[in-house]
Amino acid sequence: MTRAILALALRARYARPKSLPRFCRTHSFVAERVGFEPSAYCGQVGKVTTDHVPPRSWFPEVVDYELITVPACSPCNQGWAADAEYMRSVLVVDHRSNSNPSARELQSKVIRGFARHGRGGPTADIVGTMREVELRSAAGLFVGTTGAFDPNIDKLEHVCSQIVRGLYWSHAGTRLPETHGVGAYIVAAFTPKNAEQRESIEQLIALGLGGNTRELGDVFKFDYRLMGAGSSAWVMQFYEGFVAIAATLEKAATPHRKLR
Ligand SMILES: [Zn+2]
Repeated sequence: MTRAILALALRARYARPKSLPRFCRTHSFVAERVGFEPSAYCGQVGKVTTDHVPPRSWFPEVVDYELITVPACSPCNQGWAADAEYMRSVLVVDHRSNSNPSARELQSKVIRGFARHGRGGPTADIVGTMREVELRSAAGLFVGTTGAFDPNIDKLEHVCSQIVRGLYWSHAGTRLPETHGVGAYIVAAFTPKNAEQRESIEQLIALGLGGNTRELGDVFKFDYRLMGAGSSAWVMQFYEGFVAIAATLEKAATPHRKLR
């Protein structure tokens, strides 16, 4: 991670909202409603369930703050469940989450999951690539070993893009238009290949910052900016550590970008 991105990521972490932001809709009433309405993700009108964004399982059992929910059809709700469980595991065992109370509360649950699933199930990518690595001090002295694994970036990006679709629905008050897609980057794992790429990431972070900030306890914090006509930028931080950025972009205008 470059120094500049790190500085921006830290700004994302420590920037405080100037005033309490106002929120459009959180749809916590959906569960009690009987009837048909469009799924926040696919737009199909049908029977919907309440989908938490981020998923409810990412939060401690008891919370004293409002969570964000959107209406989702069953295929959409189920469609990201396995990858979301995978991402939760990655986040709560990540060293950046070590001192986060919510992540710590979830750690034992996640580790029980590793034991239960063995080399299969949603956490297979973690268990399968887990290895012992040497820890060295700044001076290069051997100080012990720790577990490391290769995160599946594709799954993390899938979950981040789904979160952004949910947040877009909840904060823009409408579904992301068909003409647009989500580009998501895991900043923690991203090394820009060249100056141009670095600059575009920095621009994205700068765009997302300072618009509106919202915090869901110590689990999820995000900054976002809605730029109209389906365009938006998002800087998200999980468990006070892991940072991801995303933008909703017009597909036709950005053919070179991988959008979801
Ligand atoms: Zn759907």
